[in-house]
Amino acid sequence: MDIPQELRKLGLKATLPRLRILQLFQESKSKHLSADDVYRLLHDEHIDMGLATVYRVLMQFADAGILIRRQFEAVASVFELNEGGHHDHLICTNCGKMEEFFDHAIEQRQEAVAAERNFVLHQHSLSLYGLCGDCAASIKPMAAKKPRRL
Ligand SMILES: [Zn+2]
Ligand SMILES: [Zn+2]
Repeated sequence: MDIPQELRKLGLKATLPRLRILQLFQESKSKHLSADDVYRLLHDEHIDMGLATVYRVLMQFADAGILIRRQFEAVASVFELNEGGHHDHLICTNCGKMEEFFDHAIEQRQEAVAAERNFVLHQHSLSLYGLCGDCAASIKPMAAKKPRRL
């Protein structure tokens, strides 16, 4: 993605902090960053942008379709680069780690479920909550506890 050109197309000035914010998303291992994460990463690089401004810039990017805003349960909104393709998420409720997945069978089932009920599907988001492998290993007692049958 040619970021400066993208920004100009959207009528947004390609200021250094704006460019840096988008680079952070490209460099980030987790790919999903909250306004707070971005604020702290900028701060580490001595880029002084207030949290409210960071949030406003992220929302501008989201409105422009460069970023996607995700709202998961019990965590602050996170943003990720809009790379075009669809994916769903696994969220660790202990450390906040987010992983992406795409499962063809699930996608097909969802479409079938909607079609069987005469729904015209526009979009969907599937979020799976639980413990990531690292947390499951370190929180032994909880992980060992059998899931309660309802
Ligand atoms: Zn975890
Ligand atoms: Zn994602």
